[in-house]
Amino acid sequence: MQRHELIIIGAGAAGLMAAALSARKDLLILEHNSYPAAKIKISGGGRCNITNANLSPSCYLGDPCFIEKVFEYFDNRELLSFLKERGLEPVVKKGSQYFCKKSSRELIDILLDSIKGVPIRYETEVQNVIRDDEGFCIVSSLGRFYARKVLVATGGLSFASLGASSIGFDIAESLGHTIVPPRPALVGLTLQPEQFWMKELSGLSLTVQISAGRRKIVSDMLFAHKGISGPAVLDASLFWNRGKITVDFLPGIRLKSLFANSKKSALSQIPLPKRFVKALFAALNLPETPYSRMSEEQKQRLSLIKSYPFAPAGTFGYSKAEATKGGVSTDEIDPLTMQSRLAEGLYFAGEVVDVTGMVGGYNFQWAFSSAAVVAKSV
Ligand SMILES: Cc1cc2nc3c(=O)[nH]c(=O)nc-3n(C[C@H](O)[C@H](O)[C@H](O)COP(=O)(O)OP(=O)(O)OC[C@H]3O[C@@H](n4cnc5c(N)ncnc54)[C@H](O)[C@@H]3O)c2cc1C
Repeated sequence: MQRHELIIIGAGAAGLMAAALSARKDLLILEHNSYPAAKIKISGGGRCNITNANLSPSCYLGDPCFIEKVFEYFDNRELLSFLKERGLEPVVKKGSQYFCKKSSRELIDILLDSIKGVPIRYETEVQNVIRDDEGFCIVSSLGRFYARKVLVATGGLSFASLGASSIGFDIAESLGHTIVPPRPALVGLTLQPEQFWMKELSGLSLTVQISAGRRKIVSDMLFAHKGISGPAVLDASLFWNRGKITVDFLPGIRLKSLFANSKKSALSQIPLPKRFVKALFAALNLPETPYSRMSEEQKQRLSLIKSYPFAPAGTFGYSKAEATKGGVSTDEIDPLTMQSRLAEGLYFAGEVVDVTGMVGGYNFQWAFSSAAVVAKSV
């Protein structure tokens, strides 16, 4: 019976990076897809948003001290120099987001080149991990594998069509770990009947400020057939936990100065697409009169354009979510090694851990950084 030094479960971003940076030779990677890095391949419109120049724990949902410690070892500069040394010169979009120049393939090829010689068993579905006297027994659809150490790099629940499964949470739980309940994140939000007027605006995009929990996000919101989406909503979904969100449809503009001394109708003075303003006025039951002729009660209702509170019905679900929030509790993982504090030799990296980033390359950065910590420690 062969016992490997380290078995990595999952040939995604975290698993491949852990193997690439690991000095160990006696590795085995188990992957249930028939090819590696399914999410890297399709991410960022096929060009993968690898990381972000503005990296900070505040861009994540999770314990900021834990995240900081991981980034102290391997942050965006380390990642970019790792890629540069191997010939990848990313392009910067929107001022801070790093993408592959032509295709995600550039990044995947670098990771695969860096692990030449490391065996990957594809189409091998891991079903369970059991402790034994010398480490771990990994039960899979292709039989049992044995290792002294195991890295769980199986990601979250989003996009089952790309191989996502709950196995990482199941393994962690069976070995005594607490799982912060997983939820879809970076995902569109569905609406209650009172907000169905937004559905008629399908295809329209506006720059808004959304307040969700204690977070304020200024970015674009897209009205969709199923509800609301776009970068502002995806980020808001990360910090939203049922209950209300508030949307400012005119960020940076004060209503009083907008309507000062004008005889024109308030509707025509709002600097937003007419389609939107008309739908909002209808939803708020407002007349097409000048602001000065509105009653106090109508002015009050119009002020909702600056802080429109409503409770989304839910999310578009895991099949549309770019990430899964929640996961293995960071209270039970050492951030200096990413090793379990409960089971010696058990490591976690990537999205399976209770750390989730905003839109903009933060989730791959987390996957790579946490994997780098594992590689240093094993
Ligand atoms: C559509 C989409 C676009 C995205 N775009 C971006 C982006 O541009 N920038 C960004 O930062 N993030 C993006 N993300 C998020 C990012 O892809 C993930 O956060 C990241 O891939 C997590 O890396 P990981 O290694 O932890 O998990 P994954 O990359 O999901 O890898 C997990 C691996 O484990 C394997 N696995 C699962 N269960 C089993 C099992 N039972 N047995 C064996 N193997 C198993 C899976 O097949 C997979 O290969 C996007 C996500 C999606 C869905």
